[in-house]
Amino acid sequence: MSSQPRAIVHLENIVANWRTMAALNPKSTTAAVVKANAYGLGAERVTATLAAAGCDTFFVAYPEEGAVVRKAVGTGHAIFILNGPAPSTMHLFRTHGLTAVLSSEAHVALWADARDVPCALHFDTGMNRLGLPTSALETAGDALRAMNPVLVLSHLSCADEPEHPLNAAQLDAFSKVAEAFPGVPASLANSAGCYLGRDYGFQLTRPGIALYGGTTPPARIRLQQAVTLEAEILSVFPVKAGSPIGYNATFTAPHDMLLATVGLGYADGILRSASNCFIGWLDGTPCPVTGRVSMDLITIDVSKAQAAAKAGRRVEFLGPHAKVEDQAARANTISYELLTGLGTRVERFYP
Ligand SMILES: *Cc1c(COP(=O)(O)O)cnc(C)c1O
Repeated sequence: MSSQPRAIVHLENIVANWRTMAALNPKSTTAAVVKANAYGLGAERVTATLAAAGCDTFFVAYPEEGAVVRKAVGTGHAIFILNGPAPSTMHLFRTHGLTAVLSSEAHVALWADARDVPCALHFDTGMNRLGLPTSALETAGDALRAMNPVLVLSHLSCADEPEHPLNAAQLDAFSKVAEAFPGVPASLANSAGCYLGRDYGFQLTRPGIALYGGTTPPARIRLQQAVTLEAEILSVFPVKAGSPIGYNATFTAPHDMLLATVGLGYADGILRSASNCFIGWLDGTPCPVTGRVSMDLITIDVSKAQAAAKAGRRVEFLGPHAKVEDQAARANTISYELLTGLGTRVERFYP
């Protein structure tokens, strides 16, 4: 077996999380957002498994990603391309049966020649990032309806802050969009949006990160960890009190310690901001990172796990003890960045 770091992807937990999200809005279709290689966990395996479990709608950012999903799920599932079409990618929409999400005037203009390709319309209801302005409903409502969109959607900017007034404002603005397209399914909620209540559910929800065990859902909702990230101990050694550890000596041993150096680093996606604050779990014992994360190596304090501290043993950096949301917070980032940053050197396993 390789000594490279490995990510064990728990496909059954991703399915369980998808069902948990679906149960929040039982009357809506629950899609799966699988952009960025299913948040780093492997788009082909994740989408094939979700499709087998009954998920029939997928979202990715690019048509190239959509082609991967199409190959994995076969025909009959809807695959939406959030970043929309370009003249150079139109052939991919036709070849792979993808649905274009149109979010600008230029996208809409492109559709004059592409009426055979199904489209969705993305409206900006207050995030000011991507989407047609809602004022387009007044100036071009009939033309937009005549495009026969299969879905209208918008995206929440503050769904992870339930008390934020923008949530209600966006809900209100999007309700008007939905009303302007009678009979067309509408979609507003990402993962955190699904926690805001059924008003936000409309006909289709778009959870991403929750499927992969991220977000901090309300207490009544339980998500499973979707990935266990493990890396191997390369060496174990004692240090005396006062010893400087790692690049730039950012950690000084406060007392005599037993340290272990592990084969995992920022090239694998363990951000340098995890220096001196990340935790690895050895045999269920938390072992804090000492010093800087370097490209291929990380050093941890195994003083409390001496019996298990042997070269070749694996340390958990994500998983049942090391929850992705908590580890991300330790590294001053979010679960999305941690998961999508997992490097290509991390071998993905699907037990
Ligand atoms: C990424 C994305 C989602 C999924 O968001 P999560 O917070 O991961 O659930 C949904 N909709 C759009 C438009 C997105 O870009």
